[in-house]
Amino acid sequence: MKDGQVPARDERAERIAGFIAPLRVEPGSKVDLSRDFDPAHKAGIGSKREGQELLRGGVLLLADLQRRLAAQGTHGVLLCLQALDAGGKDGTIRHVMSGVNPQGVRVTNFKVPSAEELSHDYLWRYTCGLPRRGEIGIFNRSHYEEVLVVRVHPELLARQRLPGRGTGKKAFWRRRYQEINDWERYLTDNGFSVVKLFLNLSREEQRVRFLKRIDVPERNWKFSAADARERTYWDAYQAAFSEMLSATSTAWAPWYVVPADRKWFARTCAAAVLANALIDIGPSYPDVGADARHELELARKQLEGEAP
Ligand code: AMP
Ligand code: MG
Repeated sequence: MKDGQVPARDERAERIAGFIAPLRVEPGSKVDLSRDFDPAHKAGIGSKREGQELLRGGVLLLADLQRRLAAQGTHGVLLCLQALDAGGKDGTIRHVMSGVNPQGVRVTNFKVPSAEELSHDYLWRYTCGLPRRGEIGIFNRSHYEEVLVVRVHPELLARQRLPGRGTGKKAFWRRRYQEINDWERYLTDNGFSVVKLFLNLSREEQRVRFLKRIDVPERNWKFSAADARERTYWDAYQAAFSEMLSATSTAWAPWYVVPADRKWFARTCAAAVLANALIDIGPSYPDVGADARHELELARKQLEGEAP
């Protein structure tokens, strides 16, 4: 293998692809979260220590792939993270990206939309956060909130001041899924891979994590009464997630449902899915060509001639 090149599919790449395959939502399949995915699953990894070892390897691999992505400068990656409160989005970003050059990453958090954002079409603010070629963009919450929280709370949809009749009806949501799929298709056609992770937390584990946020003073800031209120909409969210996963897992941008009850396992999965997307791109350091190499040689001679 030539120095500076990643093989398109080596043994490690096959292992990663095999590891994440069961997490993938088959395009066209009908998902029922409560039946199809177990939040406590850990895919044959025996211990936390073994999982952490895998994650460390994943972090190193990501750092290498990201350097190549940046050097090649033709493709970008958009990682979308969705989860219910306390699902582990922040920790996943902190750990998975811990080895990557911060210059090559752009993280955007999406909260309740501002008046400025509401005065545009609903995808506008997400477009503003897209990565450049050579970058990994991370959406901490994403355009999917537009078919999740906005679906569960119709008053949020009313604030969007949409024209026409039928807003909020079944056909309206079908159209929104279609618009999202089309937008992601457009991005992939333009060289931007869209990687989508749903951190799937159980109701019991959310309760435990909320209690920890209440009990541990350093974590108090992470909890609000609104979080407890959202929890009462658990079933509505599960239904919205199930329908969204069914409608928007596409061949060009499939969803991965990551078991999230064990933080270390979720982070290992997230690193693996992201690495898999980068390996698919197969970025390599550009070959500068004969002319540039000739110039490098001239520069070398000049620099060596200056030696004291
Ligand atoms: P957090 O991620 O805990 O900082 O909370 C962000 C809050 O913003 C959550 O309560 C989300 O439900 C809310 N949010 C995110 N996106 C939207 C959106 N498009 N419309 C309304 N609320 C949103
Ligand atoms: Mg929160």
